[in-house]
Amino acid sequence: MKMHTAQRLRKAWKAEGNPPCDHPHIEEEQYDQGEPTGDYVCTTCGAYVDPRKVQSRES
Ligand SMILES: [Zn+2]
Repeated sequence: MKMHTAQRLRKAWKAEGNPPCDHPHIEEEQYDQGEPTGDYVCTTCGAYVDPRKVQSRES
């Protein structure tokens, strides 16, 4: 997921009142050029998530 996409997700999530999220799926965050930033973000709420703390259902 691109950085600006995650940023938009976070903004939209906050606008929804920042409800709790289990971070069901995370993706590696990428710069607009496609290079990984080294961070992982939730595809639902856009939050930064430690991948070691999440059991992703997809390999
Ligand atoms: Zn989440």
